[in-house]
Amino acid sequence: MCKYCETQAVIILSSGRKLCKNCFIRYFEKKVFKTIKTFNLIEEGDKIVCAVSGGKDSLTLLYLLNKITSKRRDIELSAMLVDEGIHNYREKTIKDAKEFCKIYEIPLKIYSYKEELGYTLDELLKKTKANPCSICGILRRYTLNKYAKKLQATKLATGHNLDDEAQSILMNQMKHNIEISARLGPITGIIRNIGFIPRIKPLYFMTEKEVSIYSYLKKFISEFTECPNSFDSYRTDIRDILNSLEAKYPGTKNGLVKSFIEMLPILKEKYKFKSSIKSCKVCNEPCSNEICKTCKIIEELKLKL
Ligand code: SF4
Ligand SMILES: [Zn+2]
Ligand SMILES: [Zn+2]
Repeated sequence: MCKYCETQAVIILSSGRKLCKNCFIRYFEKKVFKTIKTFNLIEEGDKIVCAVSGGKDSLTLLYLLNKITSKRRDIELSAMLVDEGIHNYREKTIKDAKEFCKIYEIPLKIYSYKEELGYTLDELLKKTKANPCSICGILRRYTLNKYAKKLQATKLATGHNLDDEAQSILMNQMKHNIEISARLGPITGIIRNIGFIPRIKPLYFMTEKEVSIYSYLKKFISEFTECPNSFDSYRTDIRDILNSLEAKYPGTKNGLVKSFIEMLPILKEKYKFKSSIKSCKVCNEPCSNEICKTCKIIEELKLKL
């Protein structure tokens, strides 16, 4: 039974609280809005581009951003989808994203790896044994930043949730990539004028389970589809470890992320001058070397294609 109104509970939170549908929806929205307020994720005059995949996280985020911004005349909201070219997967989520944006009257732009880089992810993966998600992640960050700039966005919103962040923190810790962790947090890239659009993560403190239940209750997606490349990666192993710890010790992920947030100012201070930002000699996008990772991948794989 729900802790607050004695009706049928739909979820047990990691704190042990049981909530019914209405109380859970209220709890969820209140927590996301609090994150936005506490970390000042949205400011007056913002032009927000929301990165959507058509999956549960991004549609939940887009719905909530629309709920906030539709009451604000000073803030613009649009959606952007990157089509990696993953057969039998992306077609379905693009359909969901298109339908969603049509219902809520949110402008949607779609950019593809094929048009942008000349190859779909499926074509690129045939030529390399590299981890699909590493390549895909680099290309997606590149495409999102490039087009968010073209759309003159002041913020790029992404649907990262607490589980995603907990995994990234632990992965960076275990691989001794602390400098990369310094770039995590609910808002990143706030040093302006260096070619990076600041990224905001309003679902930062919501667990994957909470987002799944919220999107299910709101009927955002027609069916759950998983990328065929999402198995067998370092992240998947870390996800499984965290899930089993969470099942045994509820609140583990939350504890990890909250401890990290406390340490983040120290990390940001330590690394603030270290990574000098240059412009890629090929594409002009910001990067830390002469040529950005995307151009390097494309050059290396072009030789094999
Ligand atoms: S699971 Fe990996 S390959 Fe699939 S869309 Fe996500 S990052 Fe790309
Ligand atoms: Zn209730
Ligand atoms: Zn480049």
